[in-house]
Amino acid sequence: MKKVIIRNSKKEFAVGKIVCVGKNYAEHAKEMNSEVPEFPIIFLKPTSTLIYSGDSIVHPSYSNEMHHEVELVLLIGKEIKDATEKEAEDAIIAYGVGLDMTLRDLQSKYKKEGHPWTLAKGFDTCAVVSDFISKDEVILIGEERIVLEKNGNIQQNSSVNKMIFSPSEIVKYLSERMTLEPGDLIYTGTPEGVSKVERGDVLKSSITNIAEMKNDIK
Ligand code: ZN
Repeated sequence: MKKVIIRNSKKEFAVGKIVCVGKNYAEHAKEMNSEVPEFPIIFLKPTSTLIYSGDSIVHPSYSNEMHHEVELVLLIGKEIKDATEKEAEDAIIAYGVGLDMTLRDLQSKYKKEGHPWTLAKGFDTCAVVSDFISKDEVILIGEERIVLEKNGNIQQNSSVNKMIFSPSEIVKYLSERMTLEPGDLIYTGTPEGVSKVERGDVLKSSITNIAEMKNDIK
């Protein structure tokens, strides 16, 4: 079973579902040659694919284009269905930083063929997450920098307030479609600057005041 912990607390959550938002930063939608979406674009990752800070991301042999996507991750702390925006905000108990590893070559192929992206976003070690920090300890003001460094070079560098749909808007929208439960993780989309990784690369992902993590590609 996969678990996540909240720093400075004894709180530990068994991870439920992993829900991800696509194209939630306008500049990333642009670099993907896509329109800014009218509603959140939602996909899932299998919970068994989750790994943690310090773990190795395994590059599958059947892909030639694996990309990093650094993201703010929300931890859901209570069960909600058809939440108001206030209830949605209250259901977010903690924040972390995550990587949504993506096989871009497969994703492009599946998109072109009109097939689901599942295997481009749902392979082993594709979901990486840090420890979480409780909302009791940090208030998200929006100016936090969300940064990814690859081998010491900054590739992604934006701020959380560039999101098209805010955390509470995402949670409200989701709760109208699927019940959210304690331990669910929500990846809120990546800013621009995604790039290809190679075996041996080291990725450092961080969000100001939230978390920092390091992972290598093997
Ligand atoms: Zn993503």
